[in-house]
Amino acid sequence: MVRQHGLNLFFESRTQRETCCEIRKVDPLHRALEGLDAWLSGLRSDQSRERRSVRPVEIDQVHGGRVKLNPLAGWTRQRVWDYVHAHSVPTNALHAQNYPSVGCAPCSRAVQEGEDERAGRWWWESDSSKECGIHTGYEEEGSGI
Ligand code: SF4
Repeated sequence: MVRQHGLNLFFESRTQRETCCEIRKVDPLHRALEGLDAWLSGLRSDQSRERRSVRPVEIDQVHGGRVKLNPLAGWTRQRVWDYVHAHSVPTNALHAQNYPSVGCAPCSRAVQEGEDERAGRWWWESDSSKECGIHTGYEEEGSGI
């Protein structure tokens, strides 16, 4: 991919960015899930418009019909931070620098006051879903429980 399109291909077009995410994130996850019955994520339904339909338990048809558990689906951002502080949960230092969502370094920036939680992801894209592809496709192909 880099030989064909260059190191920073993701800045060139949305298609190139999605190709990079597919090769570096989506495909490796597919391989990692091989042989497993279930997986879990930290998705919350209040993170973005695209994640509004996230449910605590899903059948993940995108990944072979495995069970996908999203235990924080109904948690608000504030509830997460309340829990973190109450239980001294270690956090990524970037959160204190206004990175509410952290991805690959070139594709993440700090957010400004009032911006969406995921606005710093692929910050140069204004019309994208702000998703890499790992957590998309359920409405069309899968079903929530
Ligand atoms: S987030 Fe990572 S995988 Fe996706 S385009 Fe950026 S560098 Fe590539």
